[in-house]
Amino acid sequence: MLPIFEYSKLDDSARRDVLSRPEADDRETVMALVRETIARVKVEGDSALLDYARRFDGGAPVNLRVPKIEIDAAVERVGANALAALRRAIKNVQRFHSAQLATPVSLETSPGVRCERIVRPIDSVGLYVPGGSAPLPSALIMSAIPAAIAGCERRVMCSPGTQAGRIDPVILATARLCGIEEIFAIGGAQAIAAMAYGTTTIPKVDKIFGPGSTWVTAAKQLVAGDPAGAALDLPAGPSEVLVIADESADPEFVAADLLAQAEHDPLSQAILLTPSRALAENVRVRVLEFRQTLSRGAILDQSLARSRIIVTTDVEEAVQLSNQYAPEHLILQIDSPRRWLERIRAAGSIFLGPWSPEPMGDYCSGTNHVLPTYGYARAYSGLSVADFQRRITVQELSPEGLLDLGPTASTLAGLEGLDAHALAVDLRLNVLRARTESESTGVSIDQFIARLARPAILSLRAYEHAHWDARFERLHANESPWPPSIDPDGERLALNRYPEPQPPTLIEALASTYGIARDEVLVTRGSDEGIDLLTRAFCEAGRDSVIVCPPTFGMYAVAASTQGARVIEVPLTDQFQLDVPAIRAAIDDDAKILWICSPNNPTGNLLGSADIENVVEYSRDRCLVVIDEAYAEFAAAPSWTTRRTNHPQLVVLRTLSKAYGLAGARIGAVIADASLIALLRKIVPPYAISTASTDEAVKVLRDASRAVVSARVETTLAERDRVADRLRSSSLIRRVYRSDSNFLLVDAQDSKRVLALLRDIGILVRDFSGRATLGDAVRITIGTPEQNNRIIDALCSNSTGSTPQ
Ligand code: PMP
Repeated sequence: MLPIFEYSKLDDSARRDVLSRPEADDRETVMALVRETIARVKVEGDSALLDYARRFDGGAPVNLRVPKIEIDAAVERVGANALAALRRAIKNVQRFHSAQLATPVSLETSPGVRCERIVRPIDSVGLYVPGGSAPLPSALIMSAIPAAIAGCERRVMCSPGTQAGRIDPVILATARLCGIEEIFAIGGAQAIAAMAYGTTTIPKVDKIFGPGSTWVTAAKQLVAGDPAGAALDLPAGPSEVLVIADESADPEFVAADLLAQAEHDPLSQAILLTPSRALAENVRVRVLEFRQTLSRGAILDQSLARSRIIVTTDVEEAVQLSNQYAPEHLILQIDSPRRWLERIRAAGSIFLGPWSPEPMGDYCSGTNHVLPTYGYARAYSGLSVADFQRRITVQELSPEGLLDLGPTASTLAGLEGLDAHALAVDLRLNVLRARTESESTGVSIDQFIARLARPAILSLRAYEHAHWDARFERLHANESPWPPSIDPDGERLALNRYPEPQPPTLIEALASTYGIARDEVLVTRGSDEGIDLLTRAFCEAGRDSVIVCPPTFGMYAVAASTQGARVIEVPLTDQFQLDVPAIRAAIDDDAKILWICSPNNPTGNLLGSADIENVVEYSRDRCLVVIDEAYAEFAAAPSWTTRRTNHPQLVVLRTLSKAYGLAGARIGAVIADASLIALLRKIVPPYAISTASTDEAVKVLRDASRAVVSARVETTLAERDRVADRLRSSSLIRRVYRSDSNFLLVDAQDSKRVLALLRDIGILVRDFSGRATLGDAVRITIGTPEQNNRIIDALCSNSTGSTPQ
């Protein structure tokens, strides 16, 4: 009983033997008998169930369905102490499983191709609770609670009546505490058959959970193999434990852990791996001593015969062997067990350190005790809320998305020789291509501008600035003939002269940077001026309106109000995305500009490109859509600057203030159809951009400096992710929002405290508290690594709250 082996002394075949599992019973005979039972239940229904209950359970119940009155009585009969223990266990299982609820996934895999995963509960589940010599309420808790959390509408329980066809009161009381109402007193393979196919009394379910005898297990396998039957939870086998212990372990604890497993079932296996020969001997002595005092002696004798102690060279080898064995339960009673956690590759559930005995997980810590046994832990996981749910994928392609990605699908269909697949895509591509052609010859931008721009601007004669011609001496613009006396740069740049209006060198550099034509760009004093110009050109005071999607950049509303236009707010969704239906509804005859900021300030995230395409498509002929891309360089998404084809009413704003480090030079760009740019040129002040700013900007946009800009963007992104990671572990921060920009928006426990802590170290960040949907928000711009470190130190060292303010 419980032999000790030295692993290093075993040959290959002996090594395989010591880590082998006991053979299962005669499966074929069991399967044949269970097949008959299932067939009979399918034909005879309830009467077969009553007959089986009479023969195999504790007698036939009066009613298969346990009446409410009997459940009420059971709750009365179970002692207060037992009820309190059940409630406490249920609460912890609820806590751990509620945290597992999956968040839906929704993202664009490429522009205009939205892929989602949604989660739906399995409608009806069957929960089997075995009978036997003692009631197993924990078996019910472990399936009933995740089923309720997952949202399974119908939860049917079957359990054999033990005495006169009645289910043990402890099980009935547990069912009540778990909120189960449909309870049937029937057990064994016939209960599984009844739940899989339904009888007059017992409803059919989609999936069956719960442990049971070999008969129950065989029935679960058979009904799961039938598409008209019911799925099963996990492949089952006898329970098992593997303990890894070193000389620091208490031999009595280890011995008790082995015995706790061995008492389950004659087929149970308990294995101890230890590098300490002394511990091995000691544990064996303790097991044999304890064995004398325990009640389930007969079972223990059989299971201990299948159990073993293996002495390994070191803990490392023990961990390797454990990974190979893939135990259902793995107990680590070794020095610093958490250090070894990342080395564990396969196990159902892990118990760390001397104070985490397995029964805690069996009953009440909160983890699920339904675990893969018999080596299935190599590929399966223990029960979780996900097992009670269906995960469904969804996709939606916009016309642009299909135009872009459709040819790829068509090529792949061709490779596989599936021409109907190709047809399903190509038919649509043809329709879209034809439509695009007719649309591009549709309403012209000139008609659009004529209809939507302010009449006063349309008819305005632009200011005639002094003609700029470098070949002449200039006495036509009332400038000083002398350069500024003290500034050598002033002389070099001829700052006494008005700058060239819309400086061609800068226009050229911007056009080549953004991949557009020169007549599609207007240079402005920062994008702020672009916002102002567009508002002034399109919004008639007292009549027109603009649509903004808060929380967003404040200047859109300021420019509109300054101009006397109304501001219509269509807030972003909870996920900080466009509320497409609400935006479409808001676009009426008076709406002239829809402002979209992506990546958005202050939330930091990109807005979904399918959503943007959707509103751009809708706004055709209706209003301008301006996409403010102040932070585009930090986002991993294509810019809209070159995606304006077919959408002449789409305007993009860019700036050199962020990634290019030129906020002080005040250079922004409006990128739009040439006719629209021509309209704006009429109202942009003639000498908007200073000579010094143009000079700097042209230098920075040159190829050589652009490499520096990209390197800085890369650093900023790495820093942003680092700071985000660190702040996520700060107790001062509730949430760090996803950012596609050079700043992070965080929801603080107490924004005032965060602002004060940073102010104390000489750093200002921006307070965004008090706005609906944002929480107690603070916006932190990513600085130099040194500055970021200071922020991390200030906000993370305070996590314990121990530092005085
Ligand atoms: N748009 C957005 C979204 C911004 O965040 C800012 C500045 N914070 C601007 C435009 C204005 O930038 P600038 O005028 O410097 O180009």
